[in-house]
Amino acid sequence: MFKWLQTSLFGPKEETHEPAHAVKAIRPASRKAPLKTASSSLPGAFLDRWKSLVSQGDIEIVPVPRLRQGWRLEWRRGDQARLRVPAAILTAPDEILGALAAWARLVMNSRGKAKSAAAQKERSAARQALEKTLHAWLDQHAARDPRTRTLARARAERRLDRLESQGKHHDLQAIFDAVNREYFAGALEARITWSKRWGGLSTQSHAKDAEGNRYNLITISRGYDSALASAEMVGGVVYHECLHIAVPPKEGAREGEGRRVVHGREFRRREREYRFYEAWRLWHAKVLPGIVRRGAPRDGRRG
Ligand SMILES: [Zn+2]
Repeated sequence: MFKWLQTSLFGPKEETHEPAHAVKAIRPASRKAPLKTASSSLPGAFLDRWKSLVSQGDIEIVPVPRLRQGWRLEWRRGDQARLRVPAAILTAPDEILGALAAWARLVMNSRGKAKSAAAQKERSAARQALEKTLHAWLDQHAARDPRTRTLARARAERRLDRLESQGKHHDLQAIFDAVNREYFAGALEARITWSKRWGGLSTQSHAKDAEGNRYNLITISRGYDSALASAEMVGGVVYHECLHIAVPPKEGAREGEGRRVVHGREFRRREREYRFYEAWRLWHAKVLPGIVRRGAPRDGRRG
């Protein structure tokens, strides 16, 4: 599992993650097509447990093998609701199944507007607490599950295989090593790769290797792999992304504000220590956009 912290140079700052779960309300317009009823191949013992936990028998549970972390509720008023869940849920204790049933009920009941802001707040707090319980159990289960572990390992290995630091014009590894030596006493640990796409952003993120160890990953926009870029200009963006590791983002000053300060005062101060800082900023603002706009160089016409 990767948690991406995207700190792009000038692009939007955002944390990307998959939605944890989804609620899908089926519009009344599609009323004619009834939800297909259960091809219930679930073990009877499980169904008995589920029925005893769901106060009314109107929520059908459907295990989906490819689901791991999320779940999804589909329903239409007056019809049977369908809850798609990771297959692992079948092995969950009553406490977890109960939380799942309570979550579904809460979502179905909170369709209308709450009577007051306080009631609304209470409702979403209850829902969040249930989601937390469910996520905790699913995470724990995934950590124990050998198949999930194997999949994660294979994914991590594929990811490492795809890292590519040698470009057409520049070797990112050599540039990274030089920047690391000069500005970080060689102490910065990170892997570096060109972005897969031509117009890709330069980012700093984290990934895990096949052994589950977290590593820093720096991705540099392919636009820099150009004959128009000197090694010093590539070094500017490499240094900028390295700095994100050395000067990690800070949470917003005010509690609960949630804003991350990515390019704070300390970051900007250190950034200016780069020997070619002014030239690099200028290059990044004036030359790079044109390179990116002209598009990836074709064979024989390399940009
Ligand atoms: Zn940045």
